Amino acid sequence: MIELTGCLSPHVSTPQRDHTRLVWLSPDRGTARLRVITWTCQCRATLYELCQAGGQGFIRRTLQLDGSPEVHETYRWPIKQADDIWRALLSGEAR
Ligand SMILES: [Zn+2]
Repeated sequence: MIELTGCLSPHVSTPQRDHTRLVWLSPDRGTARLRVITWTCQCRATLYELCQAGGQGFIRRTLQLDGSPEVHETYRWPIKQADDIWRALLSGEAR
């Protein structure tokens, strides 16, 4: 599906009725090296980022509130699994 909005990054789809519910935890502030692999479009109030740290992958969710963004993260998974969950998130199969 092509959206003619001028947005360069993907948007998450509306969650499907039986979507997998991800567990959103408080961010791990001890993370030394964090690499953001890809992210969703910043035109939406909620930004999702696929991150990598210490050989594991996870998703970070930022609710872009005025002045005080609210950040949550998923559990850490093997990179491949995090990648699968990222695609499920974009397609609305997980949220
Ligand atoms: Zn957008």
